[in-house]
Amino acid sequence: MTLSSLPHPLLYGIDYILTGGVGDVLLDMRASGSELGWLTWPYEQGSKQGWEVVQRSLNGSQLYTYSVCNVGEHEQDNWLRTTFIQRRPSASRIFVELQFIVRDCNSFDGSSLTCKETFNLFSSESDADIGTSFRKGQFKKVATIAPDEITSRNELRINTETRVVESLSRKGFYLAFQDIGACMALLSVRVYYKTCPATIKSLAAFPETVAGGGVNQALREVAGACVENAVSEESPRIYCTMDGEWVVPVGQCQCMPGYEAVNDTCRDCQPGFFKAFVSNDACELCPVNTKLLSSGALFCPCAEDFYRAPDDPTTGPCSGLPSAPRELVATTTQLAAGKLQLSWSPPEDTGGRSDISYSVECRRCEGTACQPCGEKVRLEPASSGLMDTRVAVSELEPHLNYTFTVEAHSGVSLFASQGTPHPPKVTSMRLDERSLTSLSLSWAVAPRRPVPQPTRYKLTYRKKDDNLDVTTYTVLILEKSSVQISDLSPGTAYLFRVQALSPEGNPGGSSIEDEFETLTEVPLSQSNTGVIFGAAVGGAAMLMIVVVVLLIRKRSATTLFSPLCPSSFFKQLKPLKTYVDPHTYEDPNMAILKFASEIHPSHVTKQKVIGAGEFGEVYRGILKAPGRKEGAVAIKTLKPGYSEKQRQDFLSEASIMGQFSHQNIIRLEGVVTKFKHAMIVTEYMENGALDKYLKDRDGEMPSFQLVGMMHGIAAGMKYLSDMSYVHRDLAARNILVNNNLECKVSDFGLSRVLEDDPEGTYTTSGGKIPIRWTAPEAIAYRKFTSASDVWSFGIVMWEVMAFGERPYWDMSNCEVMKAINEAFRLPAPMDCPSAVYQLMLQCWLQDRSKRPRFPDIVSLLDKLLRSPESLKAIADFDPRVSIRLPSTSGSDGLPFRSVSEWLESIKMSQYSENFTCAGVVTMDQVLQMKNVDIKNIGVRLPGHLKRIAYSILGLKDQTSTLSVFAV
Ligand code: AMP
Repeated sequence: MTLSSLPHPLLYGIDYILTGGVGDVLLDMRASGSELGWLTWPYEQGSKQGWEVVQRSLNGSQLYTYSVCNVGEHEQDNWLRTTFIQRRPSASRIFVELQFIVRDCNSFDGSSLTCKETFNLFSSESDADIGTSFRKGQFKKVATIAPDEITSRNELRINTETRVVESLSRKGFYLAFQDIGACMALLSVRVYYKTCPATIKSLAAFPETVAGGGVNQALREVAGACVENAVSEESPRIYCTMDGEWVVPVGQCQCMPGYEAVNDTCRDCQPGFFKAFVSNDACELCPVNTKLLSSGALFCPCAEDFYRAPDDPTTGPCSGLPSAPRELVATTTQLAAGKLQLSWSPPEDTGGRSDISYSVECRRCEGTACQPCGEKVRLEPASSGLMDTRVAVSELEPHLNYTFTVEAHSGVSLFASQGTPHPPKVTSMRLDERSLTSLSLSWAVAPRRPVPQPTRYKLTYRKKDDNLDVTTYTVLILEKSSVQISDLSPGTAYLFRVQALSPEGNPGGSSIEDEFETLTEVPLSQSNTGVIFGAAVGGAAMLMIVVVVLLIRKRSATTLFSPLCPSSFFKQLKPLKTYVDPHTYEDPNMAILKFASEIHPSHVTKQKVIGAGEFGEVYRGILKAPGRKEGAVAIKTLKPGYSEKQRQDFLSEASIMGQFSHQNIIRLEGVVTKFKHAMIVTEYMENGALDKYLKDRDGEMPSFQLVGMMHGIAAGMKYLSDMSYVHRDLAARNILVNNNLECKVSDFGLSRVLEDDPEGTYTTSGGKIPIRWTAPEAIAYRKFTSASDVWSFGIVMWEVMAFGERPYWDMSNCEVMKAINEAFRLPAPMDCPSAVYQLMLQCWLQDRSKRPRFPDIVSLLDKLLRSPESLKAIADFDPRVSIRLPSTSGSDGLPFRSVSEWLESIKMSQYSENFTCAGVVTMDQVLQMKNVDIKNIGVRLPGHLKRIAYSILGLKDQTSTLSVFAV
């Protein structure tokens, strides 16, 4: 009787019950579906039958099992050995799952003495497949396997047992099954190891890991990585147990500013939301009076005409400027003693702030001349910073007109000067002449550049003591700043108010309310002119005008500078200092100490490489130092193996940068110098270098924004030139752009300035010069001055208007120098406002003394921004020149071979598919295209449309010459 005479379990419809954990299967007898080729021993079977393969077919597929049944024989020792099983290096612990049937010994008549109901599992490690050589002695016993249930004559019982083979260390192993006299069948052998599956826990990703530690270790420590846009202070770790389970995650990853955790990822803050810090908090709704950025906002910038005070958190709301104080009244109890009391009511609109204070300005007017009262008049408790709505005025002199101006201030008032051209405030109104029935008045406006002087005024007046229920106002629109009003009542006080009007006719925020009285009788002399408060002061008459001046800059728009590269949101103090060359210090380390603050490296976390500098990588990271707000920074590193000279050159950039403080100059946060790895930490500019930023947005930005951007750069350069610092390497690649799209000048240094620049070309004297950005005199005899920086600024303007195009395209440096020497200049880029191109040409004047200076450039750009119509006139543009369109040919001088070659030459390859899909596949077809066809195939951006249209125009027009640089 053999076991094989029993029906096969699968034929009963019993399937395998696969138990055990997840993991990679190294061997699966059942799945192999073919003869396994396992070795049986003894080889010679003869009458002594050992293990034998039993093949069955089930539903057309073959099943192989091994069985043995020598129950009547003594001293059975039958071996069945698997083929070589390769091990995965870290899988030192594998599981062997067996399914088998063992027949009941009692079911064999008279064989019970020799019959066995168990078998043994062995293993043997090896670094190589040893083929058919088999030695029992090489095998170690793993376990004796006994069935839980024995198969009787009629009832089939399948057992499943799993055993572990541990401490494996060699390349692979064999398993062997030793039969010692049982009647059994091995239905399935599955060999696997367990893994902890790849997972994300607490925003850290951990890879699939073989379960358990090394030899005899229950846990395996696994390092993870924060998911994209998440960071952690401590590198995340977790443990994988022998059973393939993850336990004890260590180190929290948190979403970076601008991101929030959603389903195991850090997702951009949604439009209208922001997140300022690294945390697991959700993004917050933008506070009131802020602009809603698209998505991923780190903070919400203030809406137009709203500001944050320097001490306001960037996460808080923005507030407007307060309106003017109201109801200014002078009480004159002791006028004779030269005293009076001014009091007023708080502004109607505090701009949403509680830190309202007041200042009182006193001006003394004699005849037409007004001047500050200075020390001569006392204002108590003070003239500014008043929290109370009153002030005591003393030491007034008789016979004088005094004008008091009360202004309301708040924490955001320092932004008031950022206003755009609201008409200036009317500072003083004067009574020039009066009679019984007329008053002649005139007024002046505060000189405020660059707002032009207003040409029209609105004058409103009424009787002061109008007893009627209805007050009647008279409104006059005047072309000049004086008026004579007749038909007034004698001896009557009138209140006057003047507002300057903008060219569009909008009344400026400015207004004054003055009181003047007509004469009661014909004057005898000047001394008793108009008595308002009585002639109590020393018996003499005193005319007092009380003027309430609105904060005229309230809610002034900043649109002219925004949204790109505002020159400065903060008042910049004109630098009184000049730049100090750190090389003038005998010990350059002293310069660093003086100009840069030391940061402890533990306060700096590097996150990602964002660029490569000459001295080492540039990282984005986080600076979290005591007493400072945590924030994103750029970290420049000094690569290992540097010399002391290199270290000093590297740090010289910080010594220079540390001397500057301007909104359009990259800000130094500090340096790490006291530790092995020196670093320079600066503010982080999210949008990177300007040239790349523009290239990525080719044709997508209006001139107004581009000019705003130049204005910012010019403001930064003006600051540098005021400090007597000559940059020498001004180029769009050295301008950085931040999240608010402000542009900042960067890349300072001494010897490194130009060595670091890939554009730098060695000169015969050994230095390096970026030829296409450098003024001729600087190339010729190293005359680097602010005037040569102005030349470079002209090139930057060109780069900006040409969306990051390379100046002089692929001309060689030598060709560029020759062209400049022959008075040729870069042509106007496409769509370049004429005024802007004229400014470029001015910057490129051969005679450096004739070039504009940075202050001139700033004010000119300012003017252009303030009257956007001035940008409407477009400079002449030759498409074949300005976008470097070869008139009919590709780069090798041959006609374009394909539409895609042509598109590539004009940098419009992104539309290749649009052309193909529209069936425009030959250049002949291209030449037939009209503007509307270009639009119809899906070219929507006006800049791109023009570029393609111009190119086609250029292709058609082969007659004009290529006058590249004719100015
Ligand atoms: P640099 O050595 O200053 O030329 O820096 C090399 C590159 O690093 C630049 O081109 C930028 O792409 C990047 N980079 C340098 N500084 C900053 C910064 N403050 N913010 C963002 N990116 C920067």
